[in-house]
Amino acid sequence: MTDRIVGIDLGTTNSLVAFMQGDRPVVIPGADGVNLVPSVVALDDKDQIIVGNAARKYLIETPERAVYSIKRLMGRGIEDIQQELKLFPFRLADDLQTGEVLRIRLGERTFTPPEISAFVLRQLKRNADRFFNAPVTKAVITVPAYFNDAQRQATKDAGRIAGLEVLRLVNEPTAASLAYGLDKKQNGIVAVYDLGGGTFDISILKLHDGIFEVVATNGDTHLGGDDIDNLLITIALDDIRGDMGLDVSRDGEAVATIRKAVIEAKIALSSQPATTLEVELPGGKHYLRKIAREQFEQLIQPIIDRTVGPCKQALKDAGLKPEQIDEVVLVGGSTRIPKVRVLVEAMFQRKPHTDLNPDEVVALGAAVQANILSGGSEATENMLLLDVTPLSLGIEVAGGVTDKIILRNSTIPASATQHYTTQVDGQTNVAIHVLQGERELAKDCRSLARFELKGIPSMPAGIPRVEVKFLIDANGILHVSAREQRSGKEAEIEVQPSYGLTDEQVESMILDSFDSAEEDFRERQVIEARNEAGTILAALEKGKRSPAWGQLTSAEKKRIAKLEKALNEVKSEDDYQAIRTAIDALNQGTMRLAELMMDSAVSTALKGKTMDQADMGEGPDAPHPVAKAEFE
Ligand code: ADP
Ligand code: MG
Repeated sequence: MTDRIVGIDLGTTNSLVAFMQGDRPVVIPGADGVNLVPSVVALDDKDQIIVGNAARKYLIETPERAVYSIKRLMGRGIEDIQQELKLFPFRLADDLQTGEVLRIRLGERTFTPPEISAFVLRQLKRNADRFFNAPVTKAVITVPAYFNDAQRQATKDAGRIAGLEVLRLVNEPTAASLAYGLDKKQNGIVAVYDLGGGTFDISILKLHDGIFEVVATNGDTHLGGDDIDNLLITIALDDIRGDMGLDVSRDGEAVATIRKAVIEAKIALSSQPATTLEVELPGGKHYLRKIAREQFEQLIQPIIDRTVGPCKQALKDAGLKPEQIDEVVLVGGSTRIPKVRVLVEAMFQRKPHTDLNPDEVVALGAAVQANILSGGSEATENMLLLDVTPLSLGIEVAGGVTDKIILRNSTIPASATQHYTTQVDGQTNVAIHVLQGERELAKDCRSLARFELKGIPSMPAGIPRVEVKFLIDANGILHVSAREQRSGKEAEIEVQPSYGLTDEQVESMILDSFDSAEEDFRERQVIEARNEAGTILAALEKGKRSPAWGQLTSAEKKRIAKLEKALNEVKSEDDYQAIRTAIDALNQGTMRLAELMMDSAVSTALKGKTMDQADMGEGPDAPHPVAKAEFE
């Protein structure tokens, strides 16, 4: 079979690949016979990439050459990850610019999070290739229900970089319910409780006539077994400081050793009433501590209690009471903890399903989904899958307000249309700022993308009729289009994540060796920075010819001249960071000029001229966002 599609659970802690054998999904083991591939990537001393179990020893021996929990950084920007930087030993490249894709340092080399995830995916692909004795090129990959657009895009990018065509991204809880074959029940309500290493998800699924519908999702992207590990590490470090007078909290190797020991102790306590935490410290000292399960349960209670709020919220969103839940599915390695099972049972007032291995169930479900996509077997033929979008999507309207177009928990694929107009007379461009989140103000939501609809014929404010259409495809990727209906002008984008990789960046990562891809990337950065410098310098020339220029003080003009000269000097050099710094400085320095130009353009328009006649041009000012339309 050439068109074999595998199902992949790309986990924070562990990853797996599975496929459909007859009518039963099975996990494909690695060469070592183990199903779970730890999501750990390291560079050995010859700069070869090592993945999985073999990479784990590097976390301890050469932590500066290894990385784990990379899923936490997928599709995220530097300002999103301050928490992770405190909790995890991620080493970022030190020349990162704001808005640039993150890069993680392994030894002397740097990689983006999708590249690191791609190493894990390649390992899974190798395992599958070996298993089938033929290359596998197509996959379904699962993501937490809470992943936003940027995180989903980054996951798709990782697949492509690894040489896999990603046919579908599936929410992990949806996959789990498929693995349990709960569709055969025909009707009922299912709660999927997923407590893994790094994320917590709760999903409420409704089954009608054998069809799944996710009616609500909630969760916490910062909750899982890692939190338990970190708590135990903190306690151990305090103990070591208090009892032994030794501060090893800054000793990466010692902390990694402690991490390994506490995870072993935690796992032991899931099946036995007590264990001993044992760590060999630098200088040959030993740290020993007996832990009883009861004591462990008390310690972790506040962590596992944090799953209660999201569960209640999901039930509320679904309009259901706990007693209306018919089935509860446990997912994630941390649900092996007996106390977690007790909590889940109490919350939903019924015994959860535990027949399948909780850390394999998502990959098994991904394999079921893969089978559906490949034409399926009789077992899955008529199964329809519905997912929901976890966060509301909308655009910014006049006054910096969020206008929601698709509400959270809408079933996807989904589409919706809203009408807007201009807020200024003669406005020929409108800015469409795409937002994700529940907050009222645009600044409090996540910015997904910006684009402009240009070339609207000059009309008084309130007359243009701008139709904005949102479409979320089956992968949860958003497509936005805007059309001015009187003139037929159109603009359209597939929403690229704010911190994502461009298509070109992904292509180059696929085609080139990682070394030359880095060079390419740098080269492109230089070209892009130079282009941007050209644009801002041209805009400045225009500004100097505008009446607004005369309103600047001579000190302001002098400062601008200095910044302009600085940019001109670095522009032709190969240092894109220097160019970017100079661009930012000039942007900052010309802020007031831009404001003055905007003011004069607006007042010219008010005096009866249109915006086209006023010298707005492509000055360093942005067009206005759309205004809410009165008409419908
Ligand atoms: P993820 O989906 O985040 O990759 P997994 O579902 O593989 O995570 O779960 C990994 C987490 O489960 C880790 O924090 C691991 O320590 C924890 N875990 C695995 N087995 C056990 C166990 N027997 N008892 C308690 N925790 C466990
Ligand atoms: Mg998981």
